[in-house]
Order: sequence, then C-alpha cells, then structure tokens
Amino acid sequence: MSRNQARVQAVSQIVNRKPIDVTMPEPLSKIWASDVFNLSKMEEALSKNAFKALKTTVQTGAPLDAATADVVAAAMKDWALSKGAKFFSHIFYPMTNATAEKHDGFIITNSDGNQITEFTGSLLIKGEPDGSSFPNGSLRMTNAARGYTAWDPTSPAYIMHTDNGSTLMIPSVFMSWTGEALDKKIPLLRSNSAMNKAGQRVLSLMGETDVAALNSSCGAEQEYFLIDSNFANSRPDLLLAGRTLFGSSPAKGQQFDDHYFAAIPERVQVFMQDLEDKLYRLGIPAKTHHNEVAPGQFEIAPYYEAANIASDHQQLLMTLLKLTAKRHGFVCLLHEKPFAGVNGSGKHVNWSVGNATQGNLLDPGSTPHDNINFLLFCGAVIRGVHLFGPLLRAVIASASNDHRLGANEAPPAILSVYLGDQLERVFNDIKEGKLLKSEVGGFMDLGLSQILKFERDPGDRNRTSPFAFTGNRFEFRAVGSSASVSGPLVAMNTMLADSLNWIADKLEAELATGTSKPVAAIKVLKELMEGHSNVIFGGDGYSSEWHRIAVEERGLKNLPTSADALPAFRDEAVVKLFSSTGVLTPVELASRFEVYSEQYLLSIEVEAKLVVDMATTMIYPAAVEYLSQIASTASSMAALNITLDSSVASAVAGEANAMMAAVATLSAALDAHDFDSTEAHMQYAASTLRSLMVEVRGHADTLETLVADDLWPLPKYSEMLFIK
Ligand code: ADP
Ligand code: MG
Repeated sequence: MSRNQARVQAVSQIVNRKPIDVTMPEPLSKIWASDVFNLSKMEEALSKNAFKALKTTVQTGAPLDAATADVVAAAMKDWALSKGAKFFSHIFYPMTNATAEKHDGFIITNSDGNQITEFTGSLLIKGEPDGSSFPNGSLRMTNAARGYTAWDPTSPAYIMHTDNGSTLMIPSVFMSWTGEALDKKIPLLRSNSAMNKAGQRVLSLMGETDVAALNSSCGAEQEYFLIDSNFANSRPDLLLAGRTLFGSSPAKGQQFDDHYFAAIPERVQVFMQDLEDKLYRLGIPAKTHHNEVAPGQFEIAPYYEAANIASDHQQLLMTLLKLTAKRHGFVCLLHEKPFAGVNGSGKHVNWSVGNATQGNLLDPGSTPHDNINFLLFCGAVIRGVHLFGPLLRAVIASASNDHRLGANEAPPAILSVYLGDQLERVFNDIKEGKLLKSEVGGFMDLGLSQILKFERDPGDRNRTSPFAFTGNRFEFRAVGSSASVSGPLVAMNTMLADSLNWIADKLEAELATGTSKPVAAIKVLKELMEGHSNVIFGGDGYSSEWHRIAVEERGLKNLPTSADALPAFRDEAVVKLFSSTGVLTPVELASRFEVYSEQYLLSIEVEAKLVVDMATTMIYPAAVEYLSQIASTASSMAALNITLDSSVASAVAGEANAMMAAVATLSAALDAHDFDSTEAHMQYAASTLRSLMVEVRGHADTLETLVADDLWPLPKYSEMLFIK
C-alpha cells in the first residue's frame, strides 16, 4: 500500500474506533496508593524501632543505619513479591528530561539450584548502573564509567505494572564515583535544604521560636496533545522529533475558541479515566483535567505536593501519559510546539514554601501589609527573579520550548514578576516609605440572584506573565511541557535561599542597632524594593511596547532563544549563587551547561536532517507524481485539441525546485563544524539552521495546498487535530 493510500485508510479506521474497554474503576479509597510502599505500609510491616528510625530519616534526612536498612529492604521485598513483582529497579533522573532504570531480579539460586529471593539493605541503598552512556558533561571520562544510584528514602518506592509483569521501583539519586551529582534529584534536595537553612535564619531573626523544617511545594499543570496513533506513526517527524516539521495550517484552527474547556471526546475521556486510575494507585493526586485551547490539546494537574515528590511524580506522570495513550490508540505529544500556528503546550509550575509551624509563607492572608513573614519571603522572591532572571530563562531553555516562548500564547522570554494590584500597591508603598492598608477585594456582584455572591480575589490573573503570583504561590508559567520540573524548582529554591540570606544579613545588622523587628523588616524590604522593583510588571507581557520598556528602561534581559539563554549557566553571579548555597559546585554547574548545550544542538541537527530527508524522499516525489499525472492528462487532452491550464503545474514545479534548492543549502549548512565555542555553535543552529528549515518548510507547505490531496504522503493538520 502506498503512503497516500495508507493515509486514507488510517482515517476510515479511526472514525470506526471504539473507546477501549476499561474495567469499571474501583472506589478511590480502595485504590489510593495501593501500589506505593508508603509510611503507613511501612508502619504495618516494620518493627516499632525500625519504623521510628526510618520515619526520622524521611522527615529530617538523618542517615539510616545498616541494620535498619536491612529490615526495611526485607519488608519492601515481601510487599513487592506480594504485589507480583519479580524485579526491582533504582529509578533515577539523569540530566535529560527522561528517567532511567536498570532492572535486577530478586532471584538468586541456592546450592541445590533452587530459586530463593534476596534483597538486602545494601542492594536497596546502592545500585551501580554502568552509567557511562548518560550525559555527564565531562564529569566522568568514558573509561571511568562508574556511577552510583542511591535510594532516596524521602520518595516512596512503588510498583510499576505492565501487561507482562511488575517491578519494584526505587526512586534514587545518581552520582559519579567521585561524588558529583549526575542527575536532577541531588540538586533539588540540596536546594531545598539551602532554602530551609536560609528561611530558618530569617524566621528566627523575626522572633519565631518554634520553626519546623521548611519545604518547597510544587503543583505542575501538564499540557499535552493526543493524536491518533495511525496518524502519528505515519509521520517520521512526529516519531523522531515529537513535532511536525511540515504541515500547512488547516482552514479551521483554533480561531473559534471552541475547544477550550469544551466537552471531552469519549475516547479521550476513557483514556483520562484509565490514566487516573493508574495515577491514584501510585499515590499521584490527579485532580483537574480538561480540554485546552488547541484542538486535540488537554491538561492534567495533580494536587500539589512536596517538591521532591512532586518532581518524581511529574516524571512518572509523563511516562504514564505516553504508555496509557498507546493502549488507547493515541500517541501523547509532550512537545512544546507539535503544530505550527496552533497553541503549544506548557507546564505551569506552581511553587510555594512553608512548614508545619508557620504554614505557607507565600500566603498573604487578608491583610498582607501586616504579614511581615509573608512580605519578607515574597520580597525575597522578587529580588531573586530580578537578579537571576537569565538563570530562570536558562533552566527552561530547550530547542522545543523556544518555539513557544514569546509567541502570542506563552509568556515572553523576558523574566518579570506579576504581583496583582493589591500586592503591587503594598510593595510600592514599602518602597516609598508609606505603608497603607491593603485593599480588600470587595464583593463580586453578577446581578444574578441565583448565583451566590462570592468574594473576589484581591488581584486579577495575568496570562501573559512568565512568573505570576496567584494568591498563595508563584506560578512559573514559562516552563515547557516536556521539561522536568526539577530544574525550575532548583533555580527557584536556590535564588530564594540566596535572597533570604541577604535579608537575614541585613536584618541582623539592623537588629544589632536596637531597631524593633517590624521596623527593621520594613527597612530591609524598602532597600530591597529600591534595588529590585524594576522586575515587577502587571501589564501586557505580549506587547512589543513591553519588550522595549523591559530592555531599554528596566534593564531586563530578553533572551529569545536557548542559544541566548544557556550561557547564563556560565555567569559569574550564577556560579557564585550555586556554590555559596551548596547546591552545585562550579564543576557540576559547568557540566550542566555542557549537557544542555549538547542536547540543544543535537535536537536541532536531528530535525534539520529529518527536514532534508522528508522533503527529498516524501514531499518531492509526491510533487513529481502529481506533475506526471498532469502531464499525461495534458497530452491525452492535447490529442483531443483541448489545452489544459498550466498554472498549477508551473506552480508545483516552481515550488518543488525551490524546495530542493533550499534542501541543498540546508544539507551543506549541516556539514559546518568549525566553531570557536559552544556558544557560537548554538547561535549558528538557532539562526542559520533553523531559518533554512523554515525556508524548506515554506515551499513544502505551499506544495501541500497545490498537490492532489490523494497523493499527499503525510497526514494533514486538519486530520490529525480534528479526527478522534
Ligand atoms: P489554574 O487555574 O492555574 O489552571 P489548576 O487548578 O489547573 O490552576 O492548577 C493549579 C496547581 O497549583 C494545582 O496543581 C494546585 O494543587 C497547585 N497549588 C495550589 N496551591 C499551591 C501551593 N500553595 N503551592 C504549590 N502549588 C499549589
Ligand atoms: Mg490549569
């Protein structure tokens, strides 16, 4: 069957698809965390003393002794075997956005050749994958391949079920033999503890006597596309690059705004229920799901959790989205911009910090002006974003997110903070030395007696801000849909730690002169605002006027591409930030720059090669085939003395030739390899390679509008986006 016939058949199969049978879900109380070896299961399985030791480790990070580790391992093994697991695996989070796992059996044989199972404390605590093929950014020579994974007891182990078996998964950190972090979990744990230390300092200085450990929280909203697998599997670009490299805009796109929050198609609804059933069993609190703006686009948002757990759960969610989609005949696209001209996907990272004694320190309460702890923590965030905006831009940088940032759907590549009217006024008053009462929200009156009156939030929302305060947390909206949330969380925790330390130093000095605590706090905040209020912006972040003001008047950086953004990892101030807080050594930070730059270059080069390949072997042949059909029809008609209008044929020939000329230029451009620096190489990929790809695509997309539909070899946007 030719490709174009396959395309037609794909559509008819999809139209006749039925939602797959999913057994009636069991009640939430029965399935919740049933596949997780959490504290309550450990309490059941362990002796009182062992459980107490483990709980202390989980809650305070204190080391676990070897004897207890053995006891925990034995209990974990028994539980896993009872759930049908035969294998265990340390799952870890290398410097890619993916996860990695190496599976080992519980099985060993005894001297009689019989099977017995074994799982000791040392097997639980330490694994040793031959990690030389994970990105390490020169942290290890390839001949010194040793890498260790170590159990993170603060993130519970769980069972992954597949159709053929079940595996005990043990969330782990991943480090080199020399002890350097090779993963995304170690920096996250370190950033959390740096933030905790600095936060404790500030709170104690403000007179709090009972201060529990501070932890950061994260709630991530995941956007994604679902495309029928019949379509996705016949598009090499979707399979290999995760996005369409060709495709002309359909006559109907998202202009009608009729997809956002619309009724969910039945097959998708069944998919979501199936997914949520799995998530609940894994203790992942999936809470919200709905249609998103673009056709075929959806969102799922679990309830927020401690950042380290939320981050592990987020990775697991991405894995399960893909696996479950497959079961339902879909492919789940997590790419930030799978379809040009159609809204892309983000992952809003909602972030707050708090503890058991003071609660959420980013909760202003109803009178923020006299909530000094809140003002100090919120002020610390403002200072952090101002000083480290380029770093925040760098941690969300990827070849794929570049397509989305700055387009009229996603926040710009300029980092600013949105506070909302009420808070903006409070902080402004602090800056000007007058602190007035915060305005209360007032009541919403819709003039509809049947709708109960509700209290209006004191500030509106701002969709255009990359970093917005949303009532009791900040929402980092510029994060891409395929990204791990760890990088953004590390950057936020670390910049907060730095700012809190700055505040603590200033407070100490003020208090030493006998100033009262509240007065000292406001004084410090005034100084902070004088230095950093430039980063606060409540207007339209999409406007070109803001781009001008931000850069020319506010001194903020506009870093449109990853090539512009990634070098922030090399800024002296950033190196100092990470080393002074103990989150990343200069060597560890440098390795991240190397790894992320390499990933950026690789993904653009893979795409460019695909463009060359698809244009040459799929699109050009379709154009030529159409020309040959026209030519043979024209010559038959000439025999009848009828002349066929040649304008379409000329246009097809013109575009096909122009496309192949652009392909030749792109091919040649791919061969360039003499670059003075990684920075120069990235700039070359961002400008030269990307624009040549766009040029090839322009001709190909025009061909799509000219060539007979039944000859077109690739599923079209209209089919992929609208047929479910
Ligand atoms: P939106 O209206 O922004 O789309 P959603 O309900 O989709 O909101 O997602 C909001 C996310 O923020 C959820 O994951 C929610 O649990 C999370 N969240 C709520 N409060 C906090 C908090 N204090 N800290 C961190 N995340 C929070
Ligand atoms: Mg949402």
